[in-house]
Amino acid sequence: MVLQDLGKRLNTAINSLTQQSAIDEQALDAVLKSVCAALLESDVNVLLVKRLRDKVKGKVLPQLEEIQAKQGQDADAMQGNKAKQIIQKAIYDELVALVDPGDAAPPAFNPVKGKTQVIMMVGLQGAGKTTTCTKLATHYQRRGLKVALVCADTFRAGAFDQLKQNATKAKVPFFGSYTETDPVSISLQGVTKFRSERFDVIIVDTSGRHRQESELFDEMRQIQDAVEPNMVVLVLDGAIGQAAEAQSRAFKEASNFGAIIVTKLDGHAKGGGAISAVAATNTPIIFIGTGEHLHDLEKFSPQPFISKMLG
Ligand code: GDP
Repeated sequence: MVLQDLGKRLNTAINSLTQQSAIDEQALDAVLKSVCAALLESDVNVLLVKRLRDKVKGKVLPQLEEIQAKQGQDADAMQGNKAKQIIQKAIYDELVALVDPGDAAPPAFNPVKGKTQVIMMVGLQGAGKTTTCTKLATHYQRRGLKVALVCADTFRAGAFDQLKQNATKAKVPFFGSYTETDPVSISLQGVTKFRSERFDVIIVDTSGRHRQESELFDEMRQIQDAVEPNMVVLVLDGAIGQAAEAQSRAFKEASNFGAIIVTKLDGHAKGGGAISAVAATNTPIIFIGTGEHLHDLEKFSPQPFISKMLG
């Protein structure tokens, strides 16, 4: 189920309460059943869905009991409305919690002018790293920061050309090489050059080759040791489904990334897998990719995201 449809389904489930005459445990179970089914169909991890259901029930049931005890004292309709609101709020809060690592999250990253900050982008090939690098560069540039891009992907033929093309279009200075095959050396050269030129933000695009995972992770660690990034960002394909959890855990172990960008949430992505990566790694999503163009990058915050999804 794609993300927009998930929003509609959740909304319908939550709003179905308004048609119920009695708001009791049975009504709550029925709503939760629909909510959980919609989340599972969108690839949200089954344990997270179960946790959401248990938490909502844990929060709501004692309050429903209180309301039932009062019924007869106040108008029943009023108590019924109150019960609906309690359930709706509990579900909304737990949906927000799904995409919010809260206090467990690493400190937020806010690059400022006058201090060089290095961002290293990691993720599997095809996730949207190169595209997102330029989008991110444009985002910081629009905030008045001096930004440069470094292409450390020596594995994929055409990676440097792609970054070069994107960077040129976005008018962002870039560094890379057609002949150098050592990604550690290239990234260090690029970062050293732009550091000495006092750039505020240097974004390093790394290789994301498939399969040879241990080599990919070794290379990632070596680049990380060489350029000492202030922030490592995992770029995650919004369409990868349940695989997102294991993938994000593996990258977390190898690179201890501090933020996630989920791409391709404009298309037919179910999104739920990527959402599960937040809980799997206690790491916040900071942006989402919503298209192939330069400006198709949206800042991510849990509450507005869920509110928008629910329409
Ligand atoms: P990389 O291998 O991780 O560097 O991935 P690329 O940046 O080359 O992106 C792979 C494909 O995904 C390209 O065709 C991009 O245009 C596309 N892509 C990246 N981000 C988005 C997005 O947010 N939405 C859509 N629809 N396509 C995207």
